[in-house]
Amino acid sequence: MASAFGHVAVAYAMGKTLNSSFASTRFWAWTVLCCVLPDVDVVGLVLGIPYDHVLGHRGLTHSIAFAMLIGIVVPRVAVPTIPCFSIRYGILGIYFWLVTLSHGFLDAVTDGGLGIAFLAPFDTTRYFFPWRPIAVSPIGLSQFFSSWGLGVLLSELIWIGIPVAFWLMGYRIIGRANRSK
Ligand SMILES: [Zn+2]
Repeated sequence: MASAFGHVAVAYAMGKTLNSSFASTRFWAWTVLCCVLPDVDVVGLVLGIPYDHVLGHRGLTHSIAFAMLIGIVVPRVAVPTIPCFSIRYGILGIYFWLVTLSHGFLDAVTDGGLGIAFLAPFDTTRYFFPWRPIAVSPIGLSQFFSSWGLGVLLSELIWIGIPVAFWLMGYRIIGRANRSK
């Protein structure tokens, strides 16, 4: 996995890019929850489910299909006033789908562990992207507070933090330019 910091940074940038009329504390809480939710599968490691099983770590909960399910269900709870089957619901559905899927994408550019079962439950093949610059984060918290965790944070600062900062700055500048027209 990438660390929770990396996942939340990307989700924050996605949320900031979305139409701000959706934004509320509840919306942000669900954004953060969705971007880290796929790692709920680490419970499987405690229960004895093998890492490479479809229900194992980086399995079903990291798939495109699981993210889609989240995208269908979550808009209703994240923005309760939104009418079902409306265009706004669709936009928010795509948003939560992509926020959840961003988790697997980030994991797929880390340099360790098994790949991501993007096509589960239909195909359990594990995939990585060809370019994997981000140091993989340890699963346990105790290991995170070590030189390993520090290396992870440093690599995420370079490969996630800086691009996200540039993205947000660019987005703000374009938004300002549009408003002043
Ligand atoms: Zn993960």
